[in-house]
Amino acid sequence: MTQEFLKIINLKKYFHTNYGTVKAVDDISFNVVEGETLGLVGESGSGKSTTGHLVVGMYAPTSGKIIYRGLDISFTADERPKGVRHEIQIVFQDPASSLNPSKYVKDIIASQLKLRGMRDDYEIEERISKLLESVDLPPENYMYRKPRDLGGGELQAIAIARALSTDPKLIVLDEPTSALDVITQAKIVNLLLRIQEERKLTYIFITHDLAVAKNMSRRIAVMYLGKIVELAQSEELFSNPLHPYTMMLFSSIPVLTEEDRKLRPKKVRSVGEIPSAISPPPGCRFHTRCPFVKDVCKEKEPVLEPVNTDSLHLVACHLAGR
Ligand code: SF4
Repeated sequence: MTQEFLKIINLKKYFHTNYGTVKAVDDISFNVVEGETLGLVGESGSGKSTTGHLVVGMYAPTSGKIIYRGLDISFTADERPKGVRHEIQIVFQDPASSLNPSKYVKDIIASQLKLRGMRDDYEIEERISKLLESVDLPPENYMYRKPRDLGGGELQAIAIARALSTDPKLIVLDEPTSALDVITQAKIVNLLLRIQEERKLTYIFITHDLAVAKNMSRRIAVMYLGKIVELAQSEELFSNPLHPYTMMLFSSIPVLTEEDRKLRPKKVRSVGEIPSAISPPPGCRFHTRCPFVKDVCKEKEPVLEPVNTDSLHLVACHLAGR
Protein backbone atom coordinates (compact mmCIF):
# COMPACT_ATOMS: atom_id res chain seq x y z
CA MET A 1 0.00 0.00 0.00
CA THR A 2 1.25 3.46 -0.81
CA GLN A 3 -0.17 6.90 -0.27
CA GLU A 4 1.21 7.97 -3.64
CA PHE A 5 -0.89 5.74 -5.90
CA LEU A 6 -2.95 8.64 -7.30
CA LYS A 7 -2.65 12.28 -6.33
CA ILE A 8 -4.97 14.98 -7.60
CA ILE A 9 -3.54 18.44 -7.03
CA ASN A 10 -5.52 21.68 -7.51
CA LEU A 11 -7.35 20.16 -10.47
CA LYS A 12 -9.58 22.40 -12.59
CA LYS A 13 -11.66 21.72 -15.67
CA TYR A 14 -13.50 24.61 -17.29
CA PHE A 15 -15.69 24.19 -20.37
CA HIS A 16 -16.23 27.24 -22.56
CA THR A 17 -19.78 27.41 -23.90
CA ASN A 18 -21.91 30.02 -25.69
CA TYR A 19 -23.46 30.88 -22.33
CA GLY A 20 -20.20 31.35 -20.44
CA THR A 21 -17.50 29.25 -18.78
CA VAL A 22 -18.74 26.22 -16.87
CA LYS A 23 -16.42 25.57 -13.94
CA ALA A 24 -17.18 21.84 -13.82
CA VAL A 25 -14.24 21.02 -11.54
CA ASP A 26 -12.77 23.96 -9.69
CA ASP A 27 -9.59 23.42 -7.72
CA ILE A 28 -9.91 20.06 -6.03
CA SER A 29 -7.19 18.01 -4.37
CA PHE A 30 -7.33 14.48 -2.98
CA ASN A 31 -5.41 11.23 -3.05
CA VAL A 32 -6.45 7.65 -3.73
CA VAL A 33 -4.72 4.87 -1.82
CA GLU A 34 -3.85 1.69 -3.71
CA GLY A 35 -6.46 -1.03 -3.20
CA GLU A 36 -9.16 1.24 -1.80
CA THR A 37 -12.46 2.44 -3.22
CA LEU A 38 -12.89 6.18 -3.06
CA GLY A 39 -16.52 7.19 -3.54
CA LEU A 40 -17.33 10.48 -5.26
CA VAL A 41 -20.87 11.57 -4.47
CA GLY A 42 -23.01 14.62 -5.15
CA GLU A 43 -25.96 15.81 -7.16
CA SER A 44 -25.97 16.12 -10.91
CA GLY A 45 -23.62 18.96 -11.91
CA SER A 46 -21.35 18.53 -8.87
CA GLY A 47 -18.35 17.67 -11.06
CA LYS A 48 -17.95 14.06 -9.90
CA SER A 49 -18.13 12.51 -13.40
CA THR A 50 -15.88 15.21 -14.89
CA THR A 51 -13.33 14.37 -12.18
CA GLY A 52 -13.45 10.68 -13.16
CA HIS A 53 -13.17 11.53 -16.86
CA LEU A 54 -10.09 13.66 -16.18
CA VAL A 55 -8.44 10.76 -14.32
CA VAL A 56 -9.06 8.46 -17.30
CA GLY A 57 -7.80 11.12 -19.73
CA MET A 58 -10.99 11.70 -21.70
CA TYR A 59 -9.91 15.33 -21.71
CA ALA A 60 -7.01 17.34 -20.35
CA PRO A 61 -7.34 19.47 -17.22
CA THR A 62 -7.55 23.26 -17.53
CA SER A 63 -4.92 23.34 -14.79
CA GLY A 64 -3.68 21.27 -11.90
CA LYS A 65 -1.99 17.89 -11.79
CA ILE A 66 -2.91 14.22 -11.89
CA ILE A 67 0.02 12.19 -10.55
CA TYR A 68 -0.27 8.42 -11.01
CA ARG A 69 2.40 6.34 -9.25
CA GLY A 70 4.75 9.29 -9.33
CA LEU A 71 4.15 10.05 -13.03
CA ASP A 72 2.50 13.27 -14.22
CA ILE A 73 -0.44 12.15 -16.37
CA SER A 74 -2.27 15.49 -16.57
CA PHE A 75 -2.98 14.94 -20.28
CA THR A 76 -5.48 13.17 -22.50
CA ALA A 77 -5.20 9.38 -22.68
CA ASP A 78 -3.62 9.62 -26.16
CA GLU A 79 -0.75 11.64 -24.76
CA ARG A 80 -0.09 9.26 -21.89
CA PRO A 81 2.36 6.34 -22.03
CA LYS A 82 0.61 3.23 -23.42
CA GLY A 83 1.20 1.25 -20.22
CA VAL A 84 -0.56 3.89 -18.14
CA ARG A 85 -3.46 4.00 -20.60
CA HIS A 86 -3.98 0.30 -20.06
CA GLU A 87 -3.69 0.56 -16.30
CA ILE A 88 -6.51 3.13 -15.95
CA GLN A 89 -9.91 2.06 -17.28
CA ILE A 90 -13.49 3.25 -17.00
CA VAL A 91 -16.91 1.58 -16.81
CA PHE A 92 -19.80 3.84 -17.78
CA GLN A 93 -23.36 4.08 -16.52
CA ASP A 94 -24.97 2.95 -19.75
CA PRO A 95 -23.15 -0.05 -21.22
CA ALA A 96 -25.63 -0.16 -24.12
CA SER A 97 -24.18 3.06 -25.48
CA SER A 98 -20.55 2.05 -24.94
CA LEU A 99 -20.80 -1.42 -26.55
CA ASN A 100 -21.36 -1.79 -30.29
CA PRO A 101 -24.86 -3.37 -30.43
CA SER A 102 -24.27 -5.39 -33.58
CA LYS A 103 -20.85 -6.90 -32.80
CA TYR A 104 -20.32 -10.24 -31.14
CA VAL A 105 -19.18 -10.03 -27.51
CA LYS A 106 -16.09 -11.96 -28.58
CA ASP A 107 -15.12 -9.28 -31.12
CA ILE A 108 -15.79 -6.41 -28.70
CA ILE A 109 -13.33 -7.83 -26.16
CA ALA A 110 -10.92 -9.10 -28.85
CA SER A 111 -10.47 -5.58 -30.23
CA GLN A 112 -9.17 -4.46 -26.81
CA LEU A 113 -6.78 -7.42 -26.62
CA LYS A 114 -5.48 -6.69 -30.12
CA LEU A 115 -4.81 -3.09 -29.09
CA ARG A 116 -2.57 -4.58 -26.44
CA GLY A 117 -0.65 -6.48 -29.10
CA MET A 118 -2.22 -9.97 -28.84
CA ARG A 119 -2.36 -11.59 -32.27
CA ASP A 120 -2.80 -15.32 -31.79
CA ASP A 121 -6.51 -16.20 -32.31
CA TYR A 122 -6.40 -19.21 -29.98
CA GLU A 123 -4.72 -17.19 -27.26
CA ILE A 124 -7.28 -14.38 -27.71
CA GLU A 125 -10.22 -16.78 -27.43
CA GLU A 126 -8.76 -18.38 -24.32
CA ARG A 127 -8.32 -14.98 -22.72
CA ILE A 128 -11.88 -13.89 -23.60
CA SER A 129 -13.23 -17.10 -22.05
CA LYS A 130 -11.38 -16.39 -18.82
CA LEU A 131 -12.58 -12.77 -18.76
CA LEU A 132 -16.21 -13.81 -19.27
CA GLU A 133 -15.89 -16.47 -16.56
CA SER A 134 -14.47 -13.86 -14.20
CA VAL A 135 -17.66 -11.78 -14.56
CA ASP A 136 -19.93 -14.83 -14.12
CA LEU A 137 -20.95 -15.10 -17.80
CA PRO A 138 -20.45 -18.65 -19.15
CA PRO A 139 -18.32 -18.13 -22.31
CA GLU A 140 -20.22 -20.78 -24.29
CA ASN A 141 -23.43 -18.76 -23.80
CA TYR A 142 -22.07 -15.26 -24.37
CA MET A 143 -19.14 -15.36 -26.79
CA TYR A 144 -21.40 -15.21 -29.84
CA ARG A 145 -24.18 -12.99 -28.47
CA LYS A 146 -24.65 -9.37 -29.46
CA PRO A 147 -25.25 -6.50 -27.00
CA ARG A 148 -28.61 -5.70 -28.58
CA ASP A 149 -29.88 -9.12 -27.42
CA LEU A 150 -28.72 -8.79 -23.80
CA GLY A 151 -30.12 -7.27 -20.60
CA GLY A 152 -28.65 -4.38 -18.56
CA GLY A 153 -26.83 -6.54 -15.99
CA GLU A 154 -25.30 -8.78 -18.70
CA LEU A 155 -24.17 -5.72 -20.65
CA GLN A 156 -22.58 -4.15 -17.59
CA ALA A 157 -20.75 -7.44 -16.84
CA ILE A 158 -19.42 -7.42 -20.42
CA ALA A 159 -18.32 -3.77 -20.05
CA ILE A 160 -16.48 -4.82 -16.87
CA ALA A 161 -14.87 -7.79 -18.68
CA ARG A 162 -13.74 -5.44 -21.44
CA ALA A 163 -12.23 -3.04 -18.87
CA LEU A 164 -10.42 -5.98 -17.23
CA SER A 165 -8.94 -7.09 -20.57
CA THR A 166 -6.08 -4.58 -20.24
CA ASP A 167 -5.17 -5.75 -16.72
CA PRO A 168 -5.97 -2.38 -15.14
CA LYS A 169 -4.86 -1.27 -11.70
CA LEU A 170 -7.36 1.59 -11.37
CA ILE A 171 -10.96 1.56 -12.63
CA VAL A 172 -13.20 4.62 -12.63
CA LEU A 173 -16.75 3.35 -12.13
CA ASP A 174 -19.04 6.10 -13.43
CA GLU A 175 -22.52 5.39 -12.02
CA PRO A 176 -22.15 1.69 -13.00
CA THR A 177 -25.36 0.60 -11.28
CA SER A 178 -27.63 3.60 -11.85
CA ALA A 179 -29.40 2.22 -14.90
CA LEU A 180 -30.10 -1.18 -13.28
CA ASP A 181 -32.97 -2.55 -11.21
CA VAL A 182 -32.28 -3.14 -7.50
CA ILE A 183 -31.58 -6.90 -7.77
CA THR A 184 -29.22 -6.49 -10.72
CA GLN A 185 -27.58 -3.56 -8.94
CA ALA A 186 -26.76 -5.82 -5.98
CA LYS A 187 -25.29 -8.48 -8.31
CA ILE A 188 -23.04 -5.93 -10.05
CA VAL A 189 -21.91 -4.44 -6.72
CA ASN A 190 -21.01 -7.93 -5.45
CA LEU A 191 -19.22 -8.70 -8.70
CA LEU A 192 -17.19 -5.48 -8.48
CA LEU A 193 -16.26 -6.20 -4.85
CA ARG A 194 -15.18 -9.76 -5.67
CA ILE A 195 -13.11 -8.68 -8.68
CA GLN A 196 -11.48 -5.94 -6.61
CA GLU A 197 -10.47 -8.46 -3.97
CA GLU A 198 -9.18 -11.00 -6.51
CA ARG A 199 -7.23 -8.52 -8.62
CA LYS A 200 -6.25 -6.01 -5.94
CA LEU A 201 -7.91 -3.24 -7.92
CA THR A 202 -8.35 0.37 -6.91
CA TYR A 203 -11.70 2.01 -7.68
CA ILE A 204 -12.99 5.54 -7.97
CA PHE A 205 -16.70 4.96 -7.56
CA ILE A 206 -18.90 7.78 -8.84
CA THR A 207 -22.52 7.71 -7.80
CA HIS A 208 -25.46 9.80 -6.66
CA ASP A 209 -26.74 6.75 -4.75
CA LEU A 210 -25.45 7.19 -1.20
CA ALA A 211 -26.50 3.75 -0.01
CA VAL A 212 -24.44 2.10 -2.77
CA ALA A 213 -21.55 4.49 -2.08
CA LYS A 214 -21.57 3.41 1.57
CA ASN A 215 -21.47 -0.30 0.62
CA MET A 216 -18.67 0.12 -1.88
CA SER A 217 -16.35 2.81 -0.53
CA ARG A 218 -13.65 2.95 2.13
CA ARG A 219 -13.64 6.76 1.92
CA ILE A 220 -16.10 9.17 0.36
CA ALA A 221 -15.64 12.67 -1.06
CA VAL A 222 -18.78 14.81 -1.32
CA MET A 223 -18.79 17.26 -4.23
CA TYR A 224 -20.89 20.38 -4.76
CA LEU A 225 -20.64 22.72 -7.76
CA GLY A 226 -17.13 21.62 -8.73
CA LYS A 227 -15.70 21.57 -5.19
CA ILE A 228 -15.06 18.86 -2.60
CA VAL A 229 -16.97 20.00 0.49
CA GLU A 230 -16.34 16.99 2.75
CA LEU A 231 -14.08 13.92 2.69
CA ALA A 232 -13.93 11.19 5.31
CA GLN A 233 -13.86 7.46 5.95
CA SER A 234 -17.20 6.08 4.85
CA GLU A 235 -18.38 5.03 8.33
CA GLU A 236 -17.27 8.31 9.87
CA LEU A 237 -19.03 10.33 7.18
CA PHE A 238 -22.32 8.48 7.64
CA SER A 239 -22.23 8.57 11.44
CA ASN A 240 -20.94 12.14 11.74
CA PRO A 241 -21.64 14.24 8.62
CA LEU A 242 -20.48 17.81 9.26
CA HIS A 243 -21.16 19.79 6.10
CA PRO A 244 -24.77 21.01 5.76
CA TYR A 245 -24.80 19.82 2.14
CA THR A 246 -23.74 16.29 3.20
CA MET A 247 -26.45 16.35 5.89
CA MET A 248 -28.98 17.42 3.29
CA LEU A 249 -28.01 14.53 1.00
CA PHE A 250 -28.06 12.00 3.85
CA SER A 251 -31.38 13.12 5.24
CA SER A 252 -33.01 12.22 1.95
CA ILE A 253 -31.82 8.56 1.97
CA PRO A 254 -34.74 6.16 2.54
CA VAL A 255 -34.54 4.60 6.02
CA LEU A 256 -34.88 0.80 6.03
CA THR A 257 -33.73 -0.23 9.52
CA GLU A 258 -33.85 1.10 13.08
CA GLU A 259 -30.06 1.46 12.96
CA ASP A 260 -30.37 3.62 9.81
CA ARG A 261 -32.99 5.73 11.57
CA LYS A 262 -30.66 6.39 14.54
CA LEU A 263 -27.78 7.32 12.25
CA ARG A 264 -29.81 9.58 10.03
CA PRO A 265 -29.03 13.27 10.60
CA LYS A 266 -31.82 15.66 11.45
CA LYS A 267 -33.66 16.73 8.34
CA VAL A 268 -31.68 19.52 6.71
CA ARG A 269 -33.76 21.23 4.08
CA SER A 270 -32.00 23.32 1.51
CA VAL A 271 -33.41 26.70 0.67
CA GLY A 272 -33.17 28.43 -2.71
CA GLU A 273 -32.26 27.08 -6.11
CA ILE A 274 -29.17 25.16 -7.26
CA PRO A 275 -26.91 27.90 -8.68
CA SER A 276 -25.38 27.67 -12.14
CA ALA A 277 -21.83 26.33 -12.48
CA ILE A 278 -21.28 29.24 -14.90
CA SER A 279 -21.62 31.82 -12.15
CA PRO A 280 -21.23 30.03 -8.81
CA PRO A 281 -21.98 32.17 -5.74
CA PRO A 282 -19.06 33.98 -4.06
CA GLY A 283 -17.79 32.76 -0.71
CA CYS A 284 -19.19 29.34 0.14
CA ARG A 285 -20.86 27.97 -3.01
CA PHE A 286 -23.55 26.36 -0.88
CA HIS A 287 -24.50 29.60 0.88
CA THR A 288 -27.55 30.27 -1.32
CA ARG A 289 -29.06 26.95 -0.17
CA CYS A 290 -27.64 26.56 3.32
CA PRO A 291 -30.07 26.91 6.26
CA PHE A 292 -27.14 27.87 8.56
CA VAL A 293 -25.66 30.63 6.39
CA LYS A 294 -23.84 33.50 8.16
CA ASP A 295 -22.44 36.74 6.72
CA VAL A 296 -18.92 35.31 6.54
CA CYS A 297 -20.18 32.49 4.29
CA LYS A 298 -21.19 34.99 1.58
CA GLU A 299 -17.76 36.59 1.44
CA LYS A 300 -15.08 34.07 2.33
CA GLU A 301 -14.64 30.72 0.61
CA PRO A 302 -14.17 27.95 3.20
CA VAL A 303 -11.10 25.75 2.77
CA LEU A 304 -11.27 21.94 2.86
CA GLU A 305 -9.30 21.14 5.99
CA PRO A 306 -9.12 18.57 8.81
CA VAL A 307 -11.74 18.94 11.52
CA ASN A 308 -9.04 18.55 14.19
CA THR A 309 -5.29 18.24 14.00
CA ASP A 310 -4.40 14.90 12.39
CA SER A 311 -8.05 14.15 11.63
CA LEU A 312 -8.77 12.23 8.43
CA HIS A 313 -12.16 13.92 8.31
CA LEU A 314 -11.97 17.03 6.11
CA VAL A 315 -14.69 19.60 5.70
CA ALA A 316 -15.04 22.97 3.93
CA CYS A 317 -17.45 24.94 6.10
CA HIS A 318 -16.93 27.99 8.32
CA LEU A 319 -19.08 26.50 11.05
CA ALA A 320 -18.86 22.70 10.85
CA GLY A 321 -16.99 20.98 13.65
CA ARG A 322 -15.35 24.19 14.85
FE1 SF4 B 1 -23.42 26.81 5.21
FE2 SF4 B 1 -21.65 28.74 5.73
FE3 SF4 B 1 -20.96 26.19 6.04
FE4 SF4 B 1 -21.32 27.19 3.61
S1 SF4 B 1 -19.74 27.80 5.08
S2 SF4 B 1 -22.04 25.26 4.35
S3 SF4 B 1 -23.02 28.59 3.97
S4 SF4 B 1 -22.52 27.30 7.20
